[in-house]
Amino acid sequence: MVADGTSWSMWTLGEIYSRMTRGRGLRLFELFSSGRAAVAWVDMRSLNSMVTDSAAASSSWSSGSRVVNGALNVLPDGRSLRPICSLLGEAGWKRGLVTTTEITHATPAGFGVSCKSRGEAEKIARLYLEEGIEVLLGGGRKFFTREKRSDRRDLFAAFRKQGYAVATEAEEFSRLPLNRPWLGTFAESHLPYRLDWEHDAELRRTVPRLPEMTRAALRKLAREQRFLLQVEGGRVDHACHANDIAGAVHDLVEFDEAADVCLDYLKANPDTLIVITTDHGTANPGLNGMGAKYGDSNGLFEHVRRARCSFEGLSALWKKEGQTAAALARLLEERYGYKPSGKRLAQFLAYAEKSWKPLYAGMDGLPMQLGELLGNHWGVGWTSGAHTADYVPLVAAGAGAERFAGGMKNTDVFRRYMELAGIDFRNPEVPLLGECGPSAAEVEELAWA
Ligand SMILES: [Zn+2]
Repeated sequence: MVADGTSWSMWTLGEIYSRMTRGRGLRLFELFSSGRAAVAWVDMRSLNSMVTDSAAASSSWSSGSRVVNGALNVLPDGRSLRPICSLLGEAGWKRGLVTTTEITHATPAGFGVSCKSRGEAEKIARLYLEEGIEVLLGGGRKFFTREKRSDRRDLFAAFRKQGYAVATEAEEFSRLPLNRPWLGTFAESHLPYRLDWEHDAELRRTVPRLPEMTRAALRKLAREQRFLLQVEGGRVDHACHANDIAGAVHDLVEFDEAADVCLDYLKANPDTLIVITTDHGTANPGLNGMGAKYGDSNGLFEHVRRARCSFEGLSALWKKEGQTAAALARLLEERYGYKPSGKRLAQFLAYAEKSWKPLYAGMDGLPMQLGELLGNHWGVGWTSGAHTADYVPLVAAGAGAERFAGGMKNTDVFRRYMELAGIDFRNPEVPLLGECGPSAAEVEELAWA
């Protein structure tokens, strides 16, 4: 289970929000303190950078080898690595990928395929079909139906031809037969943010959510002797890129509901292993000390409860209304219960009109500036709109969990999976690019200089 782009600070805010709204925390923290789970601290760096992207992160778990950001299980010299779905598939395991992003997106694709670039969505879809992955549920419908000038592509037909049952909305999803492989895509691109979904009756009717997709995938895969299921809460990352704490906490709490589904399954099937983690931090939101003795922080964070749409939703509405100052002021009050001072609003609008730039280039973007404006209302500040180098928490429960404890490298996760599956296989690895400090050979040379 991967809550994509969830830094320690994001887990913390999810925990606080969950306690505030549900009277209980997240499963991740509950497992930490239960004494029944193993806890690790994982270095997720990629081959070329201390800051990983989701493609390199998923590849490291999937192949045991670090690759350059953007690549899916392919080394810089072009050699392909075998991903975990292929290795386990050969050993007779069934495989499932479930996500709130496009199904061809980096995290599921890292488990499913080898491909030079995460951007090649249609190729990734074809590789899923070639691999015959038994459960594929998420968004990304457009990659299966896209029409190109010269050739009409209907990947859905290709999947159907190979025996897949295909669903494109909730009603069809509920009728997927257990005895055939599944392809379900429930949005053109990513699934809507949970927060927007909650406030839109049409979306609620047509788009299934992560806990339901997880439950269905488990129901199907549990008929098999052995299976691997990856569940991704993929849009926590997107909300963090947008510096949108309301969007992020809702998707993280939903991810936690999917964790509930898996932990219930573990209770009934103790020979299962569950690993819950994230692939990297994104923009590291923090609830800041505000006011005298930091006494305002609690009340400010309470305001998040009043949010009625994501930043994505707000931006779309504002655009529709001609991006005027009056429309923005009204939308902020209507959707977030926030009435910024005229001065603050004017400063934001001046940025939107490109009349000033922030000192730190990492904050140069409309979402980041909207995040800063709302930071006065929610008490939450951000580092930028990008991923961060943070080590990440990993918690494992069930059969073999004790192998995932202490300090680990992302590539160790793959080795533990292979040991547990009884598969003796190693992909090739290459040395890190641009590691900090001089190499051993360079140190040797310096000593003689
Ligand atoms: Zn990201």
